Amino acid sequence: MNPRYIPFITLSELKQRAWITLSGCNFRCRGCFSIAREPRGAPMSVEQLIALLKHASSTYYGDTQLQEVIITGGEPTLNRDYLVHLMAELNKLTDWTVLDTNGYLLDEPYLNELIEVGLKEVMFDLKAWDEELHRWYTGHSNRRIIANIRAAYGKVRMVVNTVYIPGIVAEPEIEQIAMFLARLDVNGEIDYRINRFRAELSPEPIARNPYDYEIERAYALVAKYMRNAVIGKSCVRERNIAEKRGWITVFPDGTLKRRTLDDYRSTLR
Ligand code: SF4
Repeated sequence: MNPRYIPFITLSELKQRAWITLSGCNFRCRGCFSIAREPRGAPMSVEQLIALLKHASSTYYGDTQLQEVIITGGEPTLNRDYLVHLMAELNKLTDWTVLDTNGYLLDEPYLNELIEVGLKEVMFDLKAWDEELHRWYTGHSNRRIIANIRAAYGKVRMVVNTVYIPGIVAEPEIEQIAMFLARLDVNGEIDYRINRFRAELSPEPIARNPYDYEIERAYALVAKYMRNAVIGKSCVRERNIAEKRGWITVFPDGTLKRRTLDDYRSTLR
């Protein structure tokens, strides 16, 4: 099985939570904030990655079990065998595994296979509703992603994310997505999260940062259709914590270093 390139693992300072970053991506989003879009870091087998995670977790949290592990990227679904094997191994270390994905490759059989080995939650990105706009922004149609979100509904806990990009993915697009999700979400189970575009991190100068009132307006629009609308900050899971947040970066050689949001990029080796 081919290895995946791992730039780092991240640990939360607030609870026993880890993010595994699998670098490389099948999309070319014009506003991508991720430092893991291109393969970078060290090539690692699943066994090496699990050993690194165990080392990091026991060094930082001691004997306490990990409460949650989120697999993110880049795009984690690129190598199916690798991801299924990783998910199965993670399931031995934690009760809650989450997959953060652009959703393009995650069709029903692939999702079922991951659920069988322990996947509990999927965070889908739906970057735009209009197919041509989506193609312009990512290089791919969104029809498969929409079909994959439909197929996943009811099988697994689900979060859907959209980045608010002023003048590009703004209220009209977000309203279309909210309407689609509301039609699907008969039980009110989906969290829909609106994230902010960050012009300073964008590889292309496509837009400015959104104003707060624009995000609030989009949130109010979504809340008309959906019970679970959320304005995403850097990490929705830690949004209610008032204290200054930080994370621990774990490098492939096993060293740990504290970082904040401000020095996220500078921690990359
Ligand atoms: S899917 Fe995510 S990691 Fe890939 S190019 Fe788009 S924003 Fe970047």
